[in-house]
Amino acid sequence: MIKLRTIIVLYIIVIILAYLFLPWKGIFFIILSLLLLFYFIYGSFSICSNLYVKSICKGNSEEKKVALTFDDGPHPEITPEILDLLDLYNVKATFFCTGESIEKSKDLLKEIDNRGHAIGNHTYSHSYGNNIYSTKLLKADIQRNQDLIFELIGKKVRLFRPPFGVTNPPIAKALKNFNFHIIGWSLRSFDTILEPEQVIRKVKKKVKNGDIILFHDNRLNTIEIVKDVLYFLQANNYGMVRVDELLNIKAYE
Ligand SMILES: [Zn+2]
Repeated sequence: MIKLRTIIVLYIIVIILAYLFLPWKGIFFIILSLLLLFYFIYGSFSICSNLYVKSICKGNSEEKKVALTFDDGPHPEITPEILDLLDLYNVKATFFCTGESIEKSKDLLKEIDNRGHAIGNHTYSHSYGNNIYSTKLLKADIQRNQDLIFELIGKKVRLFRPPFGVTNPPIAKALKNFNFHIIGWSLRSFDTILEPEQVIRKVKKKVKNGDIILFHDNRLNTIEIVKDVLYFLQANNYGMVRVDELLNIKAYE
């Protein structure tokens, strides 16, 4: 992936050349600027574009292993059900927790850790607000969740997933202050939008070796989905491991 700075430098060079040599420079400038703008927007919403931050979205495709990841919890009613299902299949997963959810279910965060699952930072507020435009606010929001998780489980988290998978220059700058592995996904279940049967069908059809699968453990539907997906993946001999194991990286400092 070409770096952001390289793209901007190339853009400036092409625009200068166009102004010097092209007769229809105005239209060229508008078209090129629009293309660049669309690319920046695409880069913001597609974490795997790696335009603003270097993220990991997939594991080794040689091995028949996948990682189940759960965002936005812990949820007092749903997460315990998911933990029991994971235990039933002897599967370890990864939970990207928000500080606001943790505050409501502190013992549950400890339970996730005690049962051997990995915990990742998903920011404190998971906000669409001003903090995605301010490096200072975003840094404080991430640090607040780091401190909360450390207070409860005594571990310094190294796995981070940005809310909504959105990245931009302020987020990239804020993340430079942390020693994180930025984790995306290769298979988005769309469990927040689709009906359970559609999600299950989609996962069964699309799953591949090395996939990082995105679920949310704050949705009632997820319980039914996970029940089916666990059965399917195990019946088809997929190993299900924590994301740090799939990627051979460290979950904690
Ligand atoms: Zn989220």
